[in-house]
This record gives sequence, structure tokens and C-alpha cells, in this order.
Amino acid sequence: MKKSIYGLTFDQLTDWLIENGQKKYRAVQVWDWLYKKRVTQFSDMKNINGDCVELLEANFVIQSLEQAVKQESEDGTIKFLFKMQDGNLIETVLMKFPYGHSVCVTTQVGCNIGCSFCASGLLKKSRDLNSGEIVEQIMNVQHHLDLKGNDDRVSHIVVMGIGEPFDNYDNLMNFLRVVNDQKGLMIGARHITVSTSGLTPKIRDFANENIQVNLAVSLHAPNNELRTRIMKINRAYPIEKLMDAIDYYLETTNRRITFEYILLNDVNDHVAEAEQLAKLLYNKRHLSYVNLIPYNPVDEHDQYTRSEPENIKKFYETLRKRNIVCGVRMEQGTDIDAACGQLRSKQIKKEKAL
Ligand code: SAH
Ligand code: SF4
Repeated sequence: MKKSIYGLTFDQLTDWLIENGQKKYRAVQVWDWLYKKRVTQFSDMKNINGDCVELLEANFVIQSLEQAVKQESEDGTIKFLFKMQDGNLIETVLMKFPYGHSVCVTTQVGCNIGCSFCASGLLKKSRDLNSGEIVEQIMNVQHHLDLKGNDDRVSHIVVMGIGEPFDNYDNLMNFLRVVNDQKGLMIGARHITVSTSGLTPKIRDFANENIQVNLAVSLHAPNNELRTRIMKINRAYPIEKLMDAIDYYLETTNRRITFEYILLNDVNDHVAEAEQLAKLLYNKRHLSYVNLIPYNPVDEHDQYTRSEPENIKKFYETLRKRNIVCGVRMEQGTDIDAACGQLRSKQIKKEKAL
């Protein structure tokens, strides 16, 4: 199977072109066609000579994803379901905010972490996405915006779709370098957030990368007993280890970290847990932001329901009183199966039923 051209960083493409007898400046031209003019066929790259176009066509594809479903929500959120060349389905979501257009990308087909509340973890990982397939999600959404003709650009990215990005680290990093590159899409690193369930060795590696991308950690519980109950990954990487890695990240980068905390009714949403969470984060509160997320119900996980609004308020106020900076995530696209993995798992069930 031919590889997606979007998977190559600028330097990798330059090296490849030189190895294949092409001039170095071709890389600038090809990237300009791909990311500025955004053509979808090599033959549309007008100033590239025929030999080079043939060479590219023989080795790469530009479009490897096929749009299978597009659901538009009343609030403007659009959920895309793409079929990859091997038939696997992935989800990408476009959300409109006052500050711009944000895209949520998928990094793996399924997820092996298997958190007890999550729709993505229902299906075991069948493979990692390569970096081209991750970049192409952004490009497809950008093409969708281009067709509307309003000059809109994908300005923000959240790596919060299906999969654990740090379990596909090298492809993730390649993806980040491609979309961030000044010669390409130029999506600012500070506008990109990667979310992890807490693979501590990779949090350390990420701290050492020379890139200003934001990190979010799915914490969801302030003690090991509770966290292990809802996220089995906590057995391998318990809270003490996680906090050590986070301290290393904060010392190394001096960048703010986001802690995600899903509020599950009568599970982790009591004032006692808010107090414990405040204590856990107190010594790093100047570089912490807690994102309280109202749970998005998943049919298969009916042991969980969303917290009551007054409990969400109490939780929030308890954190605020203890000087922990926090907010409650506004919801988007709940009418279109917005929780990560929901659309995909429903589509797969539908296909199986046929
Ligand atoms: N695997 C990574 C990134 C993908 S999940 C991670 O777990 O961080 C992105 C975020 O969505 C995580 O914080 C995850 O816990 C949360 N999430 C998963 N299922 C959810 C649901 N049903 N409702 C609300 N948030 C959910
Ligand atoms: Fe995987 Fe994240 Fe879902 Fe957990 S929450 S199963 S890590 S996608």
C-alpha cells in the first residue's frame, strides 16, 4: 500500500526527494501545493515537472481517507467518520469556538487502555494510525472549510479522539511537527493539546521534546483506589508515579498542564474528592488547570451517569476555594454522539447488524 505524503515532515520529504534524484527546492514547492494551495492530486501541482509528478504518484497518495458519514450538530459541531484504506473507521470532530475552529483527531483504531467509562476502549486497538492518516484528518476538515469559501482555517487541534496518543508516540510527534511547520499549515503549538491517560515514561519524553504543544492528563480521580477502579491503567502508573512525571514535565517546560476530571455521578464527584484533588495539586497549582467534564453517557457503560448540576457546582467551588484554577467544559455536539468513540462504535454495530 502506498504511503500518505502527509506523513512526511519537511525534512523527511526533502531527503526523500534528493535520494530519488530530485532538486532540494522541490520540497518547498510540493509543500506549498499540499498545505497552502491544498490540491488533492499530484497532477494539479502545476510547476512540478512530469517526471517528479510521476515519481510522487508512484510512491505516495494524497487522499487515503474516504468520508463515510458526516453528522452536523445544531451548534455547528461536525463529526466525520472516515474509512481508511484497510477499511477501518476513524472519527474526527470539528468544533467552532469564538476563538476559532478546533479539530479533534483520532490516533489509533480502538484503544487498549480500556477505561471503564469510555466508548473508544470498548473496541481493542487493532492498529496505530500512521502520521499521514492523522495529518489527513486535519487536511480533510480544512478542505471542508475551504469549500465553504469563508477563508476559515483550522486554528486549534486537540488530540482527544479515539486512542491513546502516547501509545503511538513516534507517529504523534511526526504529526505535530507537520501541522506546526511554518512552511505548511502553521498551526501554533500553543493551540495544540495532546491528552494522555497518563503513560508516565512518555510524559517524560514529551517534556524533553523541543515543541511548545500543551499537555492534558486524564486524572479523573484523586486517589489510587478510585482511579484504579475507573481506569485500570492506574495499576501500571499509579498516582505517585504520575505526579513525579508531571513534576518533571513542569520543571522542564514551565508550561501549564491541564488535568481532565470527568464527573461521574456519586462515583468521584463528592466534596471529599474535590478536597483530596485540591490537596494533590496544591503544590503545582500555579501551573495547573483543572477541566471538569460533565460525563457524556455511553450506552454500554450504564453504571455511570452524569453528575447533578448542584454537585458539579459544589465540586467546582471547593476547588476554587482552595485556589485551584478550574473550569467546567462547555459541551458541544451532544446530539451527535460527541463522546469520543461513540459514533464509531455505533457505526460498527450497525454494519455488523446488516
Ligand atoms: N486517550 C487519551 C485521549 C483520548 S480521550 C486520554 O484518555 O486522555 C479524551 C478525553 O475524553 C479523556 O480525558 C477521556 O477521559 C475523556 N472521555 C472519554 N470518554 C468520555 C465520556 N463518555 N464522557 C466525557 N469524557 C470522556
Ligand atoms: Fe483510551 Fe482515552 Fe478512552 Fe481511556 S479515555 S479508553 S485512554 S481513549
